[in-house]
Amino acid sequence: MKVYSIKELLSKGKNALHEEVIVKGWVRSFRSNQFISLNDGSGQNNLQIIINYSQFDTNTLKLITTASAIRVDGVVAESKGAGQEIEVVANKLKIYGHANPDDVQETILQPKRHSLEKLREQAHLRFRTNTFAAVMRVRNSLSFAIHQYFNTNGFFYVNTPIITGSDAEGAGEMFTVTNFDLDNLPKNEEGKTDYSRDFFAKKTNLTVSGQLEAEAAAMGLGKVYTFGPTFRAENSNTTRHLAEFWMVEPEVAFYDLEKDIDLAEDFLKYCIQYVVDNCKDDLDFLNKRFEEEQKQKPKEERSEQNLYEKLEFVLKNKFIRLSYTEAIDILKKSKPNQKGKFKYPIDEWGADLQSEHERYLVEKHFKTPVVLFDYPAKIKAFYMRLNDDRKTVRAMDVLFPGIGEIIGGSQREERLDVLRQKMKDLNVDEKELWWYLDTRKFGTVPHAGFGLGLERLVLFVTGMGNIRDVIPFPRTPNNAEF
Ligand code: ATP
Ligand code: MN
Repeated sequence: MKVYSIKELLSKGKNALHEEVIVKGWVRSFRSNQFISLNDGSGQNNLQIIINYSQFDTNTLKLITTASAIRVDGVVAESKGAGQEIEVVANKLKIYGHANPDDVQETILQPKRHSLEKLREQAHLRFRTNTFAAVMRVRNSLSFAIHQYFNTNGFFYVNTPIITGSDAEGAGEMFTVTNFDLDNLPKNEEGKTDYSRDFFAKKTNLTVSGQLEAEAAAMGLGKVYTFGPTFRAENSNTTRHLAEFWMVEPEVAFYDLEKDIDLAEDFLKYCIQYVVDNCKDDLDFLNKRFEEEQKQKPKEERSEQNLYEKLEFVLKNKFIRLSYTEAIDILKKSKPNQKGKFKYPIDEWGADLQSEHERYLVEKHFKTPVVLFDYPAKIKAFYMRLNDDRKTVRAMDVLFPGIGEIIGGSQREERLDVLRQKMKDLNVDEKELWWYLDTRKFGTVPHAGFGLGLERLVLFVTGMGNIRDVIPFPRTPNNAEF
């Protein structure tokens, strides 16, 4: 007797007929004392188990309730029901864990429609729901595709530190890491916290980006990428921001900005294609969910495309590449700007672009993914390469429909003197980053890289609307439950 996962058994289909098998999973429903719908998490589809109730004692059957965990030993038979080729006729039943129906009633395991908000409140149980399990399997496939893409293209995976000492990156607000007794902080002569007596003998934080360390690695290994947790204490309670998210950061020696954008486009398309090729059942389900959700929206907010069309659209089209300056011109003249519809009106060059502007360009103006480049130096980080105009830097953002920024990257400033000047201009402490400056002293080369937030990609590919629904246990302002 072979133990099968439900996905494995269903994909064997009629080739498994008459085979004696063992399956284990959680009961989704038990109808008429006869039909168990069983799911083990391996895939979207449930396996139907047929119970000949005269064969089992009633006490056992009573324990088979929604959410309980069971093992079935049985024989594969052709299914008479619609929607499935095969089913398993049970010979033996074992109950691992019973679930009390009164308790189940209170939870999202109760088989009916629950809001995504409700699912979030019971995040420890939502792995059992069709929607969240589908998202988790797609997330898994995307993570795998990311490693596969870089691995087959000659990149090395490097692990950059999660606890860092440099507070100079400027990517976002940071969480301090300390082992001080917070109720009894050691003070220096000025009455300030004396971090020289802390664990690392300096002030340390959770990383907001592994980029600076990845640059050091690229200066020896050539092509590298990081893929790890990233922390930002941003108080922006949006559907696109988490306080803890997973970032992918490739960094490549001898790349300029064009090559960096080529890499970003090729990489995104590869990952999306991978999911289209490997997650059919889950995408079918998520597509249906997406279509139903659109129907409930007011007409002007509805997506014209279904989920598959959205994915195909990105796969088929070349991303539009546009300078920041050109984008500002388009936005200035745009209808929403003229009519005062933007929350942040665009009136001059140098303005930082908000999500509403990014989404206008992608969803209304071009109707395709857009890559903006050459941003004003003033609104971007110190390490981005200064252009000859001395006003703009070689930065790029990839903007996606429904998401806005999905990738942010740049060619890095490799010239030591220019880098020093920029650090001075932007008030970045040279002493803190002595080691970073060293990377420009010993065989410096042009190089470039970018950062992709995994959850933003999962959002796009699954068609979900809130970033809290694509990570198992979201960390957001006022919320670190579970
Ligand atoms: P945004 O303007 O959307 O806040 P950012 O400019 O702060 O993004 P970068 O610092 O360039 O973003 O980070 C690179 C990528 O990391 C972004 O393109 C995005 O995909 C992701 N990212 C950034 N901040 C968050 C966050 N708080 N939660 C989830 N993903 C994030
Ligand atoms: Mn940000």
